[in-house]
Amino acid sequence: MRLPNAESRHANSVTFRPATVSRRAFVRAGVSLAASGALRPFGAYANDLRFATNPFTLGVASGYPEPNAIVLWTRLAPEPLVPGGGMPSAPAAVDWEVASDERFAKIVHSGTAYATPDWAHSVHVEATGLEPARDYWYRFTSGGARSAVGRTRTASAAGAPLARFRLAVANCRHYEHGYYAAYRAMAASELDLVVHVGDYIYEQRGITHVRSHDAPECFTLDDYRHRYSLYKLDPDLRAAHAAFPWMFCSDDHEVSNDYAADHPIDGEPPEIFLPRRAAAYQAYYEHLPLPRRMLPRGPWQFTYTQRNFGDLVSLYMLDGRQYRSYQACGSSSLVKPCDELYEPQRTMLGPEQEKWLEGTLGASRARWNVLGQQTLMAHFNQSDEHDVRYWADGWNGYPAARARLIDFLAERRISNPIVLSGDIHAFLVNDLNRRADDPASPIVAAELVATSISSPARPQRDFDRWQLANPNVRLARSDYRGYLAIEANAERLHADLVAVDDVAREDSATHVLAAFDVENGKAGAAR
Ligand code: FE
Ligand code: CA
Repeated sequence: MRLPNAESRHANSVTFRPATVSRRAFVRAGVSLAASGALRPFGAYANDLRFATNPFTLGVASGYPEPNAIVLWTRLAPEPLVPGGGMPSAPAAVDWEVASDERFAKIVHSGTAYATPDWAHSVHVEATGLEPARDYWYRFTSGGARSAVGRTRTASAAGAPLARFRLAVANCRHYEHGYYAAYRAMAASELDLVVHVGDYIYEQRGITHVRSHDAPECFTLDDYRHRYSLYKLDPDLRAAHAAFPWMFCSDDHEVSNDYAADHPIDGEPPEIFLPRRAAAYQAYYEHLPLPRRMLPRGPWQFTYTQRNFGDLVSLYMLDGRQYRSYQACGSSSLVKPCDELYEPQRTMLGPEQEKWLEGTLGASRARWNVLGQQTLMAHFNQSDEHDVRYWADGWNGYPAARARLIDFLAERRISNPIVLSGDIHAFLVNDLNRRADDPASPIVAAELVATSISSPARPQRDFDRWQLANPNVRLARSDYRGYLAIEANAERLHADLVAVDDVAREDSATHVLAAFDVENGKAGAAR
């Protein structure tokens, strides 16, 4: 029941208040109560279930590590692609165990969670009482069936000396455009955390490429549940979830292409769009290891957060969709800048999140301050003529908001800011300059942009041309799918750009396309 320290103060400012919600409401909400004996009466009807086939088809996952706690996830779905998942419309008891060894010889924590039909029989356990900076193994049992074993890792305590931290950055895995060989490589590597910066699913209708969504565009809760299930049936994705804890930013395609707040680009009015967004946010919650405080309430979901990893890394996971101003200049794609673009009140994060971020960054004592967020932040003129074109959906469409953030990082001398981004389906390594469009102004931060796991990109020749026009862009490669593998220590932050040889092959190998280092105290990345 205890909320993580770093968030409890902030959680009080939102309407979801665990301490005042009844136990029955929790059960209805599909939220498990860790090891709560008080829940036994519900077991009377929840424990009868016997599974004829494996209900753990979508695997297991963990996320949002803290020094003493971690979120564990699974979902009961013997038939994940049919509405209802092949489950009876009744709650089901799910026992969970956390062990300090792979063979479960020493179980350190266990309990019973109640999976309910309202929340697609998903299970979110907040396992507490754990030790910092160590591996744990976990599994679930229900109706005589047992899940695969997941491995996870707690964070080291804030401020505790930490020699190194390894994370992968992934995003944009359009199922139809390729296999997840990137995830197989990732699962075989050694990491403390996976950071996912958006487009976990694509909502679009099926058009067969390498494989098919085999469904219409997502609008209803059942549509989104089907889409998440399809993606999560991929064995390489399940392996990467079972290997490490993850944290997430949700971007547009979890809901609808290039949506901004309550405004989708195809002009659905808010009264049509907001119920769709509610369905999308619900399915997102149901399929990811999100903490209880991220439970959506209708079309609202409170997902921005921060985690410390010892004295080395403070990680901020931002929400650049729910609170942003609408895109400017009449388009969410490439625009010729108009006056509206530069309006000072335009926001990417919304005033509350901006204030939270400044307060949290300002209080940080970590060596590396890492911002996980959705879209390209560095100045990037994508004109094919001798003029200026900006991608209106990324930070180039929100220059005043970008300037506020960069000014804050510079004026408060935030230690080693690093921005992690996605969305553009290309690897980019960028300088974030004090005046974003002036590459002669001081470098404030390095931006590392992960290419897509599988989603298609604009041709390399376009990026070659744009790179020439943007001296703050040190690398721009759209010709490979893959992910970023990052290792930070006290002296430097090293990033390998891991590329998939052939995304159309399930068994594709990967290689390191390029590597960059950011030195402690010296902003900017160098090969
Ligand atoms: Fe994408
Ligand atoms: Ca996107």
